[in-house]
Amino acid sequence: MCGIVGIVDAGGVSFPLYYALYALQHRGQESAGITTFDGERLHKCKDQGLVADIFNADILKELKGDVGVGHVRYPTTGSKIPENIQPFNFTFQNKKISVAHNGNLTNTTELRKKFEDRGQIFCTSTDTEVIGNIIVDELRKTDKMEDAVLSCMKNLEGSYSVVIMINDKIYAFRDPLGIRPLCIGKTREGYIVCSETVAIDALNGELIRDVKPGEMLCISSEGVKCTQITEASSHGHCIFEYIYFARADSVIDGRLVYDVRRRIGESLHQEAPVDADIISPVPDSGIAHATGYSESSGIPYREGLIKNRYMGRTFIMPNQEARENAVRIKLNPVKQHLNSKSVVLVDDSIVRGTTSRRIIDIVKDAGAREVHMRIGSPPIKAPCYLGVDMPTREELIASKKTNDEVCEQIGATSLHHVSLESLIKATGIPNDDLCVGCITGEYPLCIKGEKGCPRHIEYVAGTFQSDLKDF
Ligand code: AMP
Repeated sequence: MCGIVGIVDAGGVSFPLYYALYALQHRGQESAGITTFDGERLHKCKDQGLVADIFNADILKELKGDVGVGHVRYPTTGSKIPENIQPFNFTFQNKKISVAHNGNLTNTTELRKKFEDRGQIFCTSTDTEVIGNIIVDELRKTDKMEDAVLSCMKNLEGSYSVVIMINDKIYAFRDPLGIRPLCIGKTREGYIVCSETVAIDALNGELIRDVKPGEMLCISSEGVKCTQITEASSHGHCIFEYIYFARADSVIDGRLVYDVRRRIGESLHQEAPVDADIISPVPDSGIAHATGYSESSGIPYREGLIKNRYMGRTFIMPNQEARENAVRIKLNPVKQHLNSKSVVLVDDSIVRGTTSRRIIDIVKDAGAREVHMRIGSPPIKAPCYLGVDMPTREELIASKKTNDEVCEQIGATSLHHVSLESLIKATGIPNDDLCVGCITGEYPLCIKGEKGCPRHIEYVAGTFQSDLKDF
């Protein structure tokens, strides 16, 4: 998964890009980068690590210009080599171009081969470079971004929310199914387009709206122009953004993520009530779900685990034993809250099952009498091909084991996952507009060897155009 941002602002963009990336840090911690354009040339800084470790005031002062893009990366395609850090920058026919992408393409290999067969070279192993190639291949012919993005939407399979800076303009587009989020907001002297609304909040900006699935925006100092490139029969918003990935204080496609999670927690109580002493979240991912369970049941919400706020990825773990202990350094039990208590422990999801096992051990060691595990997603049974780092079926505990077997393996007194029906209801999004592939094994687009219900896509490029006054 990744986070992307593009800003056009007359007051300069490097500091706003930094703050926006800081707000999107949860979407990727492996590397980060910023590219700006000063009217003549690109200014770039990117590296491995966290946003706060890569940039400082001196670096940001050198990133001159009123237009720029930024990226935080959690690698799904392409290895962790420095060349793969985004934004991906290049020059084409005197155009200075910088691309940042969130999502995962499922036909990268075929597309790369097509270009390589024509003698094209690649400098990275990312799918983002493929997007860059399609764009310039089309610009070469017509010099119109509408055509270039139409070509992307005809050729790319998978998920992609993209921001591209071409000289002093930012283009942003979202795949026809709207799998990954993307929204636009107003800043003091311009506009921001970004993965989540928290980045707009960080700049004290104002959310305008989500970028529509299949839509392209062109943002410049003159304003914003919107062009619908495709219309899909229905969409495929990622359910996991609501369950775990997005920040709880983000609003995605009109819904506050916190509210969705709270409603999931209410359903967890209605579907599997327990006569317990306290409701405790696994911080931070289970907090909103746990408040919903507590409100619905009337059982007090009490934190049984406190997370160390300063656990970064830089935390040194020299060996396996240390890694296993790391969870104890990350999460400290509040023994006074847990001792001799029956506890409902709420978390967002179980993927491999290793985290739950360790956490339940900690809660039991702290004296809990019973640990009833309640999970804010149905069992995760199938891999994600569209950008969430979900392993193969073999590694997914729920793909091989029954609920009772998982309960035993993680050492819980009881275990309940929210039903798919309640989960969908909590999002308020129609079933047909969601991707629930990791739960059902059926995807909203064609994936080799998998089942699905691919959406019908019409190419309507340029039919609907509007400028900012129509927002
Ligand atoms: P585990 O069951 O050990 O794989 O860990 C699952 C926990 O990791 C969940 O409770 C989430 O908080 C978190 N998680 C879920 N999916 C992901 C993901 N794709 N990348 C990183 N963390 C995740």
